Amino acid sequence: MKTVWIATGNPHKTEEFAKMLGENVQIKTLKDLDQEPIIVEDGTTFEENALIKARALHQIVHEAVMADDSGLEVDALDKAPGIYSARFMGEDTSYTIKNQAILDAIKDKTGDERSARFACAIAWIEADGTEHVYRANMEGFIHDKIEGENGFGYDPIFYFPPFKTTSANVPAEMKNAYSHRGQALEMLKKDWDLQQ
Ligand code: IMP
Repeated sequence: MKTVWIATGNPHKTEEFAKMLGENVQIKTLKDLDQEPIIVEDGTTFEENALIKARALHQIVHEAVMADDSGLEVDALDKAPGIYSARFMGEDTSYTIKNQAILDAIKDKTGDERSARFACAIAWIEADGTEHVYRANMEGFIHDKIEGENGFGYDPIFYFPPFKTTSANVPAEMKNAYSHRGQALEMLKKDWDLQQ
């Protein structure tokens, strides 16, 4: 069985990665370290921040490491919250409040003016230090209300046309088949057979 380290402490992301990588891949995360490193995500792009996280973990474990950086870009808000998606309005602010704030901020926008996307960059650093980055988007719109119980974060306001509803209103397997994270991971899996 292969072991992949993932530079995240977010249980939702860990679960999504675990489902997508399958049962033959053992996942270890920052939670498996004796002490979690303090990682300063001061990059200006999803790609830079994914590499910052992956490098920090690779320096500790010296094994194959993966890290993602993702977020929601709302075109009517100049692509905010973007790389600040987790920190938007404060890390500890509930997503009910964050999601309502986005709905309020673009309440006058209609149709295509509500375009938005989830973006994800996955950095993969091989045991020998060779670096790679994969990027994928999931294109949709900001819904007119908060809807759905699945997923996490901004899923309840992200309307994805192929689902005809929000990404919080479909089962995890369905979201993962189309998601920014799922697509970026598929690109990575094509290059490295993680299932061996
Ligand atoms: P990161 O952990 O720094 O990559 O922050 C990602 C943040 O972007 C999350 O905390 C969510 O706020 C948002 N986000 C990323 N992917 C998704 C998703 O699939 N659904 C909902 N929100 C997401």
